[in-house]
Amino acid sequence: MFNFKQKTKDPPDYDSKLTSFLHIIKNYSVLAENFLDSLTYFTRVFDAAYASVYFYENKTNTFLLRKWVGHEPSRYSISGDYEFMKFIKGRKGPVHRHEFFIKTTNEMRQPALFYFQQTLSNVVCPIFEGDEWLGLLNLQIDEAHKENNAVLFDSLVEIYADSLKRWLLCQRLLQEKKRLSELSHIKDQLLSNVTHELQTPLNGILGITDALLDSEEEVLSHESKQHIGRIKKSGKELSQTVNNMLKLVQIEAKKDKVCKEKINILALIKEVALLYSDACVGNKTKIVIPTSEEEIFVFVNADQIRTVLMNLVGNAVKFTSEGQISLHLKKSGEKLHISILDTGIGIEDEKLNIIFEEFYQADGSQTRLYGGTGLGLAIAKKIVTLHNGRIWVESQKGEGACFTFTLPMYPV
Ligand code: ADP
Repeated sequence: MFNFKQKTKDPPDYDSKLTSFLHIIKNYSVLAENFLDSLTYFTRVFDAAYASVYFYENKTNTFLLRKWVGHEPSRYSISGDYEFMKFIKGRKGPVHRHEFFIKTTNEMRQPALFYFQQTLSNVVCPIFEGDEWLGLLNLQIDEAHKENNAVLFDSLVEIYADSLKRWLLCQRLLQEKKRLSELSHIKDQLLSNVTHELQTPLNGILGITDALLDSEEEVLSHESKQHIGRIKKSGKELSQTVNNMLKLVQIEAKKDKVCKEKINILALIKEVALLYSDACVGNKTKIVIPTSEEEIFVFVNADQIRTVLMNLVGNAVKFTSEGQISLHLKKSGEKLHISILDTGIGIEDEKLNIIFEEFYQADGSQTRLYGGTGLGLAIAKKIVTLHNGRIWVESQKGEGACFTFTLPMYPV
């Protein structure tokens, strides 16, 4: 792949070394899975006979051999308990074997020299992030060659160690991402099973309460019917929560089967506003819908976008005891911005992002004033994202809130 000069007795040409080094750095992305293969090429640039990389395992406080070039080192794992490891870390850059003769005590020197012997190296560069060990880069180099330009050599080793660090951190993030998506899948599976199991008995309970409420006065007293009415109300709330949980997992599960069509957004907004106008307590809150001469079409799944509008308008109604809820439309390129503005209780600055997470409520206390499950916005976000849109909120505590989401316009 690269055409490098093999190790020779001639004095090294530093310009060409630098060029080769930059060439490799440019060609190996720290995001690439095979980044460690670059060790072979760097070994040549450094005129090293052997090289090895050990990665740190926190659980066991040991460095484990991950990659080598040349002879295989005789140690697969090295304990992090040695004092000389602290010395290496403290130096932050490449440490040369001869430094242990000058700068350390006998107790530290012996195990350190043993380390160099076993890793077939005479230079070691620590790899770490903050205070945390990540690994070790070992090289066996020709000291005579290196002496001609020690500063350049050390800098290149340090830069390479830094690339190894970034590669390792990227790998960890990728693994974490994989783990989280597996966990998320398990959570969805669990939610789906639990909600299915809850739905059947709940429907039974609600059916029985309806039958009891319809019964004659001689069979059930007025007081008993009032109690049953309360059972029905709680049952319906529970049923709504169960439905929301189910909706949340179904959106994800059926995301590839969503059918989109040309929808008149104004008609959909009117429909939702009408549904909620009765809920505006004592007519103290007014819902104002956009007035537009021209029809505006979006390319969406009508049922899903109705859910988004219902969740956002529903929240605006719930959190606004008096004032106005207004809906606004704004075209921006190929997207339509839909905003729901209210004059309600508003949201604290630090909660503006987190409220879109599942089960999160700005007031999570047991004594909170408003009902709900903290799922409405998570559902809205999932649906909007599935439509390649964005959703966000602007608000200040006590100053109302403005939720905006974007949808793809139907191409004209
Ligand atoms: P729910 O309303 O069922 O609790 P949501 O996911 O719809 O769940 O909302 C999460 C939280 O965001 C709410 O509990 C509330 O604290 C906050 N919130 C949402 N909409 C508004 C709004 N219009 N005004 C003030 N707070 C809001």
